Amino acid sequence: MKTVSKDKGVFTFSRFHPPVMQLDLGEVLLLETEDAVGGQVKDENTPLEKLDWNKVNKATGPIYINGVESGDTLVVDILDIEVSSTGVVLVIPGAGALAKKEFRPRAKIVKIKDGFAYFDGIRLRVRPMIGTIGVAPEGDDYPTGVPYKHGGNLDCVEICKGARLYLPVSVNGALFAAGDLHAVQEDGELCVSSIEVEGKILLRFDVIKKAKPEWPIVEHNDHFSILVADEDLDKAVEIATEKAVEALMRANKWSFEEAYMFSSLGVRIAINQAVDPKKGVRIIIPREIVSIQHLLR
Ligand code: CA
Repeated sequence: MKTVSKDKGVFTFSRFHPPVMQLDLGEVLLLETEDAVGGQVKDENTPLEKLDWNKVNKATGPIYINGVESGDTLVVDILDIEVSSTGVVLVIPGAGALAKKEFRPRAKIVKIKDGFAYFDGIRLRVRPMIGTIGVAPEGDDYPTGVPYKHGGNLDCVEICKGARLYLPVSVNGALFAAGDLHAVQEDGELCVSSIEVEGKILLRFDVIKKAKPEWPIVEHNDHFSILVADEDLDKAVEIATEKAVEALMRANKWSFEEAYMFSSLGVRIAINQAVDPKKGVRIIIPREIVSIQHLLR
């Protein structure tokens, strides 16, 4: 098995980064990752105003995947995620869904043991997920803190063990990177952080040639989710609904009107996060109704 250590990382998704490793399709890859604050907050007295924001949201990589070319879909199987035994939750004035309120910066260290995290005596089941995951974008670089069509800071609870992720490839080799693990997060990620942890990710890659999704797609046993992000949450909902309706039209040979009707009946929308530079939603379509081919072009 090939391993990439957590010191080998990037702070942007870019077509110009030199890869740290080449990997073949089907090979298993172990990525070690830093927590989202670069390990800078180890205790609750850390002065948060002195955080170096240039060290935030590192993604381990990028990895050049052999046999994957621009115009293809990179298929990422998330085989396992292991998180560390402590994590940190942060609130930062000016950030999160209550950014306009006055409050003090604060960090809380959270212990993680035997599958549970403990917040002030409240026990939460650990549901490890990958916050930041993606490939080189088509044009300009994107900071790793921003979610968009190439992936990035998606902060979607469905990007967990057992998920399959489909990403649109814009450069040969894809230049894949991931990091920013969360031990526990709920839809919305309202205060701007989750339980941020370092850890390890076990992955395997495949490719679909000459077709790609416009936005990242997550597959689980019973559904596909299209992940859409925009500065404006209403706009993200609109784009996601349009993409789902288009897929329903293709899959069922429905008119726009029929597919739009069905969107109220068989399709669900959820907020991934309402706090990143682009707000993210996922639109959830049962696998009985569409197959992956209807979601690619
Ligand atoms: Ca994140």
